[in-house]
Amino acid sequence: MIQCNTKGEMKAETQFTNLYDLREYFSNETVCRAYLEQFRWGGRPVCPFCHSENPYRLGDGKTYKCSNKDCHKKFTATVGTIFENTKIPLSKWFVAMYLITSHKKGISSLQLHRDLGVTQKTAWFINHRIREMLKDNAPELLFNVVEIDETYVGGKDKNKHKSKRTGYSKIDQKKTMVFGAVERQGRLTAKKMPNVKQDTLLNEVRSVVDKSAIVVTDNNKGYYNLGKTHEHAVVSHSTGEYVRGEWHTNTIEGFWSLFKRGIIGIYHNISDKHTDRYVTEFVQRYNTRDTTEVERFNLFLSQCEGRLKYKDLIKKEKNV
Ligand SMILES: [Zn+2]
Repeated sequence: MIQCNTKGEMKAETQFTNLYDLREYFSNETVCRAYLEQFRWGGRPVCPFCHSENPYRLGDGKTYKCSNKDCHKKFTATVGTIFENTKIPLSKWFVAMYLITSHKKGISSLQLHRDLGVTQKTAWFINHRIREMLKDNAPELLFNVVEIDETYVGGKDKNKHKSKRTGYSKIDQKKTMVFGAVERQGRLTAKKMPNVKQDTLLNEVRSVVDKSAIVVTDNNKGYYNLGKTHEHAVVSHSTGEYVRGEWHTNTIEGFWSLFKRGIIGIYHNISDKHTDRYVTEFVQRYNTRDTTEVERFNLFLSQCEGRLKYKDLIKKEKNV
């Protein structure tokens, strides 16, 4: 049923292009679990506690026991993943993954709760766990022409979002700055910034953009010293200039526009402590815009390791 190549990698024979196909393919828990096992272990289960490769399967078909005499622990394919210790069937998780990653502007917990037939609290938790899974833990540097811009989310005064064009002093401090960089015809990266200081911005640019790249920004004074490390093209938005030859920041601004429509239209508003997860969700959708449904699903499933506990989600974040 599930095909693997000699390296234990999944062959691209699993095909679903829509929700109906996905539901038909992942019709029961056994199929879902076998799919997950292939993904994690490529046919050779590994003990998540001692990394022994000689566990044996117990009678229930899903539990393994480590044969290392110093370990002997039991585990299943969900241990150490976002699916660990939940009573939600994998088939529902898979549908949720599909819904969250294929809807251009995301899906609200309220909608997910209706679509999956789970409580709203559970839907909220699933949403956040899946966002955690989407995180790119080893992003590649951006090259060629890279557009950089920042936007603000949250805050009470909805009319203030254009203030970023007029300097830091008029920014509503309750808003959260999100920094973004996109390689033309390439990948995008974005994250919440702890503050709006020049050093913070410049350090972020230098950590995500290769030195060989040409960086395009607006005339935000936070980028004044960027020329010391990168070739830097500035478009003077404050004087009404938006395009000068090939220099513009339209790509990143198009992304902010989609991001904001999603935040306002789907999620209504987002709390500061979860901003990064929402940003991640939109970034990953953007970065997989040219992949097929099944490729995107498989890519994100391959990142399912790493848990996010409910108590970690709801705990208060230190103010930064
Ligand atoms: Zn073990």
